[in-house]
Amino acid sequence: MPASVYLDYNATTPVAPEVAEAIRPYLYQLFGNPSSAHSHGRVARAAVDRARGEVADLLGARPQEVVFTGCATEASNLAILGAARAGVDERRHLVTSAVEHPAVMVPMRRLESEGWSLTVVPVDSTGHVAVADVERALRPDTLLVSIMHANNEVGTIQPIARIAALTRARGILLHTDAAQSVAKIPVNVHELGADLLSVAGHKFYATKGVGALWVRPGVRLAPPVVGADHEHGLRPGTENVPAIVGLGCAARLGLGRLGEATAHLTRLRDRLHQALGQAVPGLTLNGHPQARLPSTLNFSFPGVSGRDLLAAVDDSLSASLGSACHSEHEAVSGVLAAMGCNATRAMGAVRLSVGWPTTETEVDTAAHALASAWERLHARR
Ligand code: PLP
Repeated sequence: MPASVYLDYNATTPVAPEVAEAIRPYLYQLFGNPSSAHSHGRVARAAVDRARGEVADLLGARPQEVVFTGCATEASNLAILGAARAGVDERRHLVTSAVEHPAVMVPMRRLESEGWSLTVVPVDSTGHVAVADVERALRPDTLLVSIMHANNEVGTIQPIARIAALTRARGILLHTDAAQSVAKIPVNVHELGADLLSVAGHKFYATKGVGALWVRPGVRLAPPVVGADHEHGLRPGTENVPAIVGLGCAARLGLGRLGEATAHLTRLRDRLHQALGQAVPGLTLNGHPQARLPSTLNFSFPGVSGRDLLAAVDDSLSASLGSACHSEHEAVSGVLAAMGCNATRAMGAVRLSVGWPTTETEVDTAAHALASAWERLHARR
């Protein structure tokens, strides 16, 4: 077990003990296939149905609107490629933002390469999408808008409900990638007003390899993966019962402790911010000062590269460069570039994300390690 402080909860979370316990019987005695009519199958089906209800409750949705997938990437692919391929010929325009995760941006670009027209809406220096820019991007032939609920690198929360008011009035579909926001801040599909919403299990204490897409009733999708009729025909393949049971349990926990979690994360995030702000003159926060996930701090450390800084703290801290959940190369983060950060500031960026298990001691240890590593590197310049 690494001794380092883990401040990379936006990359992934540990599995909650309650989730591990909930899963265990479904790995052993309760191993049935939910499609089987016999008692083993019926027990598995009941577990999947229960989990569907739990995920629906977390989102303020109805169980039949939840489609289980293998991850949030798959959920967003199903939403975007599925909506495009079920769409009508007259609507061949798509809109997204400049700070989307590749789970959204890559299917959007794929459709563009197939002849769809794509508008990428910019963000301001805090990573915020202006509702007026989205409005300007909409056209009579727009089929789908996909704007993330909260950004994985800088935590900025987007005005989804206000964007939904625009798309709804024009009969345009709205998808939102809520992989980072679920169980950290309220995510209610009716308050957000979207038509499609992606969820990632491993960002809120379920296992990796499970996610969900919420689909508003009446939205038609042509699934990219075809086969049998599992998940209303939208995600064929035998259900991953243990992971789905775990997702349901994590959703129940997430809903039960949402207010407490938001307060806990905010307190630790702000403690870390304050400690580093005092110790590192010239430290700059990347992201929105207020409309930001309670888990997330993205800092540019002056005069050093984020990679050198994390190497200097060595194994005492697990944190990431801007987008380390999907990048192993030192390159300027596309998100920071879209926010107008210059290359020096972007190269100095480190993302620190706290989670439910984070303690004050861990935050203080991490702040001390980062501040002294920064001083050492800075003194050498
Ligand atoms: N969307 C966002 C905003 C993310 O942060 C991530 C996580 O890396 C994903 C999508 C992809 O999630 P998954 O790993 O479940 O496919």
